[in-house]
Amino acid sequence: MKSIVSAVRVLPQGMDYVILDAVELALKQLGGIESIIERKKTVLVKPNIAKPEPLDYTNPAVTWAIAKLFSEYGCRVLLGEDPAIPTSEKAAYSHYGMENIAKMAGAELVSLRHSEHVIKRVPEGGYFTEIPISKYAAEADLIISAATMKSANITTVTLGMKNMKGVISPKWKRKFHTEGLNQGIVDLNSVLPPVLTVLDCTFGRDMTKKVSYPVGLILAGLDTVATDAVCSSIMGFDAGEVEHLSLANKRGLGNIDLNKIEVVGLELEEFIKELKCFFTFSKPQNPFEIAKASNGKISIVQGNPCSICLNELGNSLAELKDRLNEFEKVTIFVGPNVHPEEYKDAGTKILIGSCLKKYEDDYLYVGGCPPTEDAWIAENCGSLKQVMEGLLDK
Ligand code: SF4
Repeated sequence: MKSIVSAVRVLPQGMDYVILDAVELALKQLGGIESIIERKKTVLVKPNIAKPEPLDYTNPAVTWAIAKLFSEYGCRVLLGEDPAIPTSEKAAYSHYGMENIAKMAGAELVSLRHSEHVIKRVPEGGYFTEIPISKYAAEADLIISAATMKSANITTVTLGMKNMKGVISPKWKRKFHTEGLNQGIVDLNSVLPPVLTVLDCTFGRDMTKKVSYPVGLILAGLDTVATDAVCSSIMGFDAGEVEHLSLANKRGLGNIDLNKIEVVGLELEEFIKELKCFFTFSKPQNPFEIAKASNGKISIVQGNPCSICLNELGNSLAELKDRLNEFEKVTIFVGPNVHPEEYKDAGTKILIGSCLKKYEDDYLYVGGCPPTEDAWIAENCGSLKQVMEGLLDK
């Protein structure tokens, strides 16, 4: 059977009520809210607010429109998110205007980060055997993944499936990052209640170049994998090469073959043509391979680091690739479980990531969780590249 993905054109900077109409039409094209859920049932609306910055979050008007439509239909609507680990929930909620959105939409504001988390067993064949998810997500009759069109470094895209990571406990977010992010996303989506995905593509966000581009589209579908696959193709990525989408398809969670997906409401060719060269994706660089090629000049000691930290480390070392042989001896420590004091002949020691902040007065330190440009500015420390270049200039 074909999966249906609904598509509606909208002005990227349209007024709230223009966006409300577009979201309503997108749901109508799926058969209407009444075909999705009965009145009086509980719905959790989960926007993506990775950080309190417009580039990082779902257009608030889209979140409001979804919550309002389900609330007026007669559902109990909960609105909640758990932002990226280093971001405080309070800061994210306040910047995003969560309280106002909930009030204006007739929804209840809930905290996914600080709620009780209940264990969901993952069926056989999963990578993890169990995942703790917020009780609000577990108790909802329907979760609405209100994600935004965004590229991502490790997972290529952050769309409906990956947005669901906000319902797991912060400790488990880190576990996903250290043990298998793509597999974790698939396991998580396999144990959630039914999910309706509404993708805010008012703007497309390229997180490699940190720029956004007006697109003017709302996508919606009850097959999250198919909805993400259609959005990925508009972004210029083959869904079969997006690891978590491909794994989800193999697990039987949804379609990625565009021939098995019917897009209703719009022809998407024009968007595909327009966005073809916009989104960039640079394959994560493997820091261990780069260090290996330095003939022992650079060593890495890891202690259960998150994939995002290794990713940043790989990117920084790749930028210095041609100069690595010029170093004396450098050892880079990453992850919360390293003990740099135990390494006697390690040469110059550099520690990366805020989980090693306790050592900042003892060794060279690059802060941030993860250690990104924003974090270096906030922590007033140099980037790994700058710190290493400083060693060469001495
Ligand atoms: S600093 Fe890096 S390794 Fe440490 S908790 Fe943050 S992301 Fe994970």
